[in-house]
This record gives sequence, structure tokens and C-alpha cells, in this order.
Amino acid sequence: MDNPDAIIIGAGPAGLATATSLQAKGLRAVILDKAGAVGSVWRRHYDRLHLHTDRGHSGLPGLAMPSTYGRYPSRAQFVDYLENYAARFNLRPVFNTTVRAIRRDGTRWRVEAGVNLQSAPVVVVATGWADYPYLPRWPGMDAFRGDIVHSSAYRNPTPYAGKRVLVVGFGNSGGEIALDLAEAGIDTTIAVRGPVQILPRDLLGLPILTWAIAQRHLPTRVADFINAPVIRLSVGSIEKLGMRRAAKGPRQMVEEDGRVPLLDIGTVAKIRAGKIKVRGDIAKLSPDEVAFSQSAPEKFDAIILATGFRPNLRLLLPDAMGVLDDAGKPLASGYPTAEPGLFFCGTITSPTGQLREIGIEAQRIAKAVNGKSRSSLGSQGRPSDARVPDRG
Ligand SMILES: Cc1cc2nc3c(=O)[nH]c(=O)nc-3n(C[C@H](O)[C@H](O)[C@H](O)COP(=O)(O)OP(=O)(O)OC[C@H]3O[C@@H](n4cnc5c(N)ncnc54)[C@H](O)[C@@H]3O)c2cc1C
Repeated sequence: MDNPDAIIIGAGPAGLATATSLQAKGLRAVILDKAGAVGSVWRRHYDRLHLHTDRGHSGLPGLAMPSTYGRYPSRAQFVDYLENYAARFNLRPVFNTTVRAIRRDGTRWRVEAGVNLQSAPVVVVATGWADYPYLPRWPGMDAFRGDIVHSSAYRNPTPYAGKRVLVVGFGNSGGEIALDLAEAGIDTTIAVRGPVQILPRDLLGLPILTWAIAQRHLPTRVADFINAPVIRLSVGSIEKLGMRRAAKGPRQMVEEDGRVPLLDIGTVAKIRAGKIKVRGDIAKLSPDEVAFSQSAPEKFDAIILATGFRPNLRLLLPDAMGVLDDAGKPLASGYPTAEPGLFFCGTITSPTGQLREIGIEAQRIAKAVNGKSRSSLGSQGRPSDARVPDRG
């Protein structure tokens, strides 16, 4: 496309949603993606994954997910939806194009990808977190003889048959991978370092997200206070299972720390039934064993690190000023930034669903791009506290 109004980096949900929202304002955007198809990250998530946010609140702007998908669409259905979404809005990303750097060029942004250089007055970074798995280190890690993989490399229980597996981290990926392993009869332990929050995926017959959205205008602490008794009643005592409930309520945890509570789909029942063992923080590793801070060392054959992601966009934006924090995370997502014409979409963890937030951010970006002269973009930036997504 010659002379686009915007260049979008990434053809995942955020990139597609932004392209459609710009299109709805009559703006032309080119989408670049290093992969060969839309939704590439969803194509490689673990096999059993279903959305943990309900279909009704997970669709992108302009196209609802079909009711045939059920309340919680499968990974394959979500990929199917993204393909249909791109086709419906005639989005034609340029695939197999890795963006190496984005640099300011006068009032435009120059995007460096392969041998090609493209420029536009607006660039939207929608590159997600998948490239930034967080891998913690423990003493003795290099000597451990078993496999250590990040949750983003886990597919299904098959390679773990007959093994003793330790899943590290109690986010939604950690909880679901532990469940996947336990259901396959694998000897499964989960290491839970700090206090946690657990929510049922559905409450009184409705998706938990419906409740969160209904309460979104309540002050955070008020909402958490009101919900605490019913959550306790529905989840039961987690202290008896060897875990500590976080002092911060679920919404406060998401808003302040970017940590998403476990939306339980059966993990707690498996723990209660003794099919998943719970241990605390890891102190060190030896060739066959993991030593825990507060319990005896145990033998494991494999470790799956469901320890989340820590995006660092500094390499991609070597010269951008005032848009990233010291760790390379965007300071604002879905709003104008300190750099006129530069936007991020989908980098903030939301208590009312990440995909829903992506749709909201995409439309807000389109409004900002449409509503201002290109050169004044960013003058009214509203930095919001960037939070680290912890979906491991
Ligand atoms: C396991 C898992 C389950 C989740 N489940 C839910 C859920 O149920 N509900 C919910 O609301 N949220 C969920 N999320 C959170 C979030 O909605 C998803 O991660 C979503 O895919 C984010 O969309 P995105 O477009 O920002 O990023 P991605 O889907 O990661 O897409 C980013 C795209 O950018 C491309 N790209 C990256 N770098 C470059 C580059 N340098 N050059 C060119 N292209 C590049 C990639 O190839 C990719 O196609 C989940 C997250 C994970 C990890």
C-alpha cells in the first residue's frame, strides 16, 4: 500500500482490531507481521486452551464471535475467528516481515523491516508479549538434568508421561497446565510462591467477567470488599490447600500489579483431591531435585515455568523518548504517547478482560488518529501505569 495513514506492527488481535477501527474512520493502515498468518501466537498456544473470558466479551470491534463457539471458545475457534475477522474487513497483512526498529523521521515514523523501509505519520505497536517469556533463575539451575521449558513452549501432556513434573506459577497458564497434566495421570506439583487470588470462571451462572464489567464504575476496594464473601464461599478455603490468599483483592491485584487471578476451571478441585500437590517458593535446584524454601527437596524430571512475560520494547524503539519505562514497557497503551504519532495497543492487563480492553484501545487510538492533525498527536497523552502481564 502506498502512503498509508498508519503502519501497524502485529497481526494478532490488537493489530487486527486497530486496523479495523482505523478503517472505520476512513484511514488506511498497512499491517506487518513476522509470522505467516494472522493470530500466529494463538496457533501455538497449548492444545486444550479455551478463552477464559467469555465469547460475548472477547470479540473484536465490528464482529461478534458466532454463538456456535459456545461460551468459552477453544483456541482453534479463536484462530478461526481471527481469520474470519481479517477476511470480513478485507485486512491483508504483509506477512513474513519482521520489524527490527521503528525510528522517528521528521514528522513521520520509519519502520525498518528486512530490506524494506516504510514510513507513515502514525505507527501502532501491537506486538504482544509472546517474544518476552520471563525465565526466573535459581542457584543450581544449569545442573538440573531434566527439561526446563517456559509455559509458552508447552503443548500437551504427552511428552511428560511417566514423569514427575513441577509447574512453577499459579496464573491461568500455570493452573491450567497443572490441570492438563493431572488429568492425564501425570505426577504433578505446582510451586506457588506468594499469596494468590482465585475466582470461579462463572458465578451464579454468569461469566465472572460479566460481574467485573457490571462493577467497573465502583471504586476498586469497594468492589473487592463486596465480592470477597461470595468468592470465599464459591472457592472454599485455600489456606487448607497450602496457599495464602492475597491481601489485595482480585481487581486491586490486576490494577496495581498486573497480576490476573486464577480463573479456576478445575485446578482447585484437583488440588483438593490430592492430584496436584502444592509447594511454596523454590530455593535451589540440583541435578535431580528441587529444594523448596519451606519444605524438603523433591525429585522432578521436568519443570514448566508458567512465570509470565516481561515485554521490553527498547530494541524495537531505540530512539523513542518518554514512552517506555526503565524495563522497556510502554507507559501508555491505547492512548497517545509522549511521541506524536506513536501508539501501543494491548499492553495493559485489564480486570475486565484483555481482549475486551484491546477492542476499546483500538477504537480509542483510531479516534485519536482521526481527531488530530498528525503533527499534534501525543500532545494530550494520558500516560497510564503500564502493568506487566503475568499470563504465564
Ligand atoms: C495463554 C494465553 C491465554 C490468554 N487467554 C486470554 C483470554 O481468554 N481472554 C483475554 O481477554 N485475553 C487472553 N490472553 C491475553 C491476550 O488477550 C492475548 O495474549 C492476545 O493474543 C494479545 O493480542 P496481541 O495482538 O496484543 O498480541 P499477540 O496475539 O501476541 O500478537 C502479536 C503479533 O505481533 C507479531 N510480532 C511481534 N513482534 C513483531 C515484529 N518485531 N515484527 C513483526 N511482527 C511482530 C507476532 O508475530 C504476532 O502475530 C491470553 C494470553 C495468553 C498468553
